[in-house]
Formats: sequence, C-alpha cells, structure tokens
Amino acid sequence: MNICVIGTGYVGLVTGTVFAELGNDVICVDKIAEKVDLLNRNIMPIYEPGLEELVVRNRNEGRLSFTTDFKKSVEAAEIIFICVNTPPMDHGETDLSYVKAVAKEIAEAINGYKVIVNKSTVPVGTGDIVSEIINANNPKNHKFDVVSNPEFLREGSAIQDALHPDRIVIGAPTKEVAMKLLELYASLEAPMLITDVYSAEIIKYASNAFLATKISFINEIANLCEKVGADVEHVAKGMGSDQRIGRAFLNAGLGFGGSCFPKDVQSLLHTSTKLGSEFALLKNVLGTNSERAGHFAKMIKSRFPDLKGKTFALLGLAFKSNTDDMREAKSIEIINELQKGGAKIRAFDPVAMEVAKKIMPDITYCQNPYEACEGADAMILVTEWREFKLLNLEKIRTILKQPVIFDGRNFYDPVRKKRLGFEYFGLGRNKWPK
Ligand code: NAD
Repeated sequence: MNICVIGTGYVGLVTGTVFAELGNDVICVDKIAEKVDLLNRNIMPIYEPGLEELVVRNRNEGRLSFTTDFKKSVEAAEIIFICVNTPPMDHGETDLSYVKAVAKEIAEAINGYKVIVNKSTVPVGTGDIVSEIINANNPKNHKFDVVSNPEFLREGSAIQDALHPDRIVIGAPTKEVAMKLLELYASLEAPMLITDVYSAEIIKYASNAFLATKISFINEIANLCEKVGADVEHVAKGMGSDQRIGRAFLNAGLGFGGSCFPKDVQSLLHTSTKLGSEFALLKNVLGTNSERAGHFAKMIKSRFPDLKGKTFALLGLAFKSNTDDMREAKSIEIINELQKGGAKIRAFDPVAMEVAKKIMPDITYCQNPYEACEGADAMILVTEWREFKLLNLEKIRTILKQPVIFDGRNFYDPVRKKRLGFEYFGLGRNKWPK
C-alpha cells in the first residue's frame, strides 16, 4: 500500500518505519527540514533502540523515504496518517493547532479518495473537526474518510511495541473503511478492535489515565508506608499477585512524567469538565503526581538540612529509561529544588545529556556514573536505566564523600545496599520522617 505519514517524531517515525518493514511504500513528511535532512543521511533525530537499523534497511530497499514535500506525499498515498504533536495548553486543553494545520494542508493537496487516519492523541470529537476542515478547503469535493487509530507504543520500546502491539484499535465510520486498516495491520497478528471514531478517541485517553491512576495510587500507599515503616514494594507485590489487579504500573517512586501521561490526564479532565462531567478522581491523580519530586527533595533535605556547599551525583535525567526524552522529566524538578538550596549537581545519563544540556546548562555533565559520584555528598537515582543496576557499588562507596543513596525509583535492594555500608533512602520503604 502507498502510505503517507505526517510528522516524524517518536510516533510518526516509528510507525512509518514499521509500515515499510511490513512491505508498504511509505513517505514520511515533516515540516522541519533539518530533521528530514538528518533522516536522509541515516542519522536518527531521536534515540530509540533498534530504530536506526530498520530505517537504514527500509531506505536501502526503497520502501521508506523522508521529505518536506507535503503535496507530493499526500497525492501519492491511499492512506494518510496524522502523527503530529498535540501539546497541552493552559487548563489542560489540547492544542489542536498542528492537527488542524495538517487537515488544511491535506485538503489543499487531496487529489482523489483518501483514508485519513488520526494517530495523534486527540480529544473525542477531533475526527469531526478534521472532516469539517477538509470539507471546507476541498473545492473539487474529493471523497475521504477519517479514522481514529490511536497509538499505544512506549518510548524506549517503541519498535517492539509497534511490531507486537497488545491490541490495535480502529475507530472507523464504516466496516469498509475499517477493512482498509485491517488489511494494513493483518500481518502483525495482533488483537484488533473495530469501533466507532468517538470510542477509539476515548480509548487512548482512558488507557493512559488509568495507568496514571495506578501510579498515583501506589504512590499514596507509599506515603502511608512511610508513616508506619512498611515497605511499599512488598505491598505492591502482594496486591499485584491478584490477577484482577496485576503488578504492572504499581511502581512507587517519583511519579509519571514524559510527553504523554501528564498531558493526556489533563486533557481527559478538561474534556470531561467541558462536557459537564467532573472527573474529580483525575484531579487527585495529578495532584498526587505533582507532589512526588518535592516529597523526594524534602527527604534529601531532611538528611542534608543545609544544601549550601553540597554536591549531589544525579544518575538519570530522561523521564524514563531507554529514551532521550526530557519532556516533563522529574530530574528537572529535583535539580531545581536542590539548586534553590545552594547545592551543586553532577549528572550522568546514558543518552539524554545532549537534550538536557539545552534545558539545564548550569549543571556539570559527567562521562559516566563514577565521575558523577567522585567527591559527591550522596548519589541520587532518578531514572531506572538498567546499567545503573550493574554499578560497582564498592567503588561508588569509596568515591562518594559519604555513602548515601537516595533511590527515586525503588530500583535497588535496600537490604543489600545497607549490607554494603550505604545509608539507603527509598520511597515508601523507610519510616519517614523519623
Ligand atoms: P513529536 O513532537 O516527537 O513529533 C511530532 C512531529 O510532527 C514533529 O517532528 C513536528 O515537526 C511534526 N509536525 C508538526 N506539524 C507538522 C506539519 N504541519 N507537517 C509536517 N510535520 C509536522 O511528537 P510524538 O511524541 O511523536 O507524538 C505525536 C502524537 O502521538 C501526539 O499526539 C502524542 O500524544 C501521541 N503519542 C505519543 C507517544 C509517545 O510515546 N511519544 C505514544 C503514543 C501516542
């Protein structure tokens, strides 16, 4: 099939590449010429495991190309995927200006029947908005249908997720239109849910909001554990063994960040409120989440009451492991809090430092975790990169000024850390404040 993917960010680039891998002819369009230029030189603008290899192979085999030429790409395609950003505005409302601009450009380029698929995460009713814009700017009245096909991939495992999705949701106006998408996805052999456009749009928000709720729930339980000296990891294990609950997303820590959960929860809350159905639960999910970094910083300050002249080794800057995405990363909040008190930060992240330097130019970036820990007053784990599990802790203990670890992701085993001579602070694992 001839496919056009508009927007080559995390979603568009991965989706377009995977469609090419499945044997389709794919043109990816972006309005940022530098990005397109990088991709045409086989340089990835984002870090995503396995991406480069797939892009190079599919480009070499002639199934995948990158361009800024919107018109030509739309003209050549049977199916057009909209994968542009949908950032939050004030009061949590979703900024649809990028989606609307794309709809107008499609209308101006349309040259025959097209299936237009919204893969961007958009509030319920956006499919109608896209249709209205195309109808209003399509003088030759070319036929088209708008489909909602939300994306569930996770940064850090995006290729795997796109090749082996838990489910594919297709919200289409008719069975015939849904069949077009079914055909495209058939070789993935994933469970498919065919539904109407509104339901598909809501499924994406409901899924992310539910996962965010699990995270805030376990973080509230962590707060309770700190009051009595229980261990939230044991509680999560005990809860998660119940098949009705499940262990996934019951990880107490610094809470959720990134480009999706915070904005999607805010957007769902905004949509519900606008439609007259106040979703109070979601307000609390966001409230709990917004307190996590401050709570952790307080824990650090209770051990180091005077931050002036203190230096901290901060391991992990990205909002989660296996990505260089710094959007809504908890590291930013924690660093701000510590700097406010006069502390200095020596940071290391395996891939996010180049992105982080643009946001936080005033911290010291180190070559590796050991360089960050050299002479620091304590080590602070913020992002759960697997390689931080394999650190030589005997060495860390000798190079830190004081053997203190603050573990923002409950990543380490406290018993082992204490045996190695560390003072260990996790979230929901110590009686705190003592
Ligand atoms: P992104 O910011 O990484 O990429 C968006 C791309 O769209 C950018 O490269 C931008 O230049 C391009 N763009 C914007 N307007 C354009 C236009 N008129 N013409 C051509 N290109 C244009 O965003 P992302 O993280 O890939 O997210 C895209 C959408 O997918 C969002 O709605 C997001 O909520 C959703 N989503 C993201 C993830 C994720 O993990 N990042 C997962 C699922 C869904």
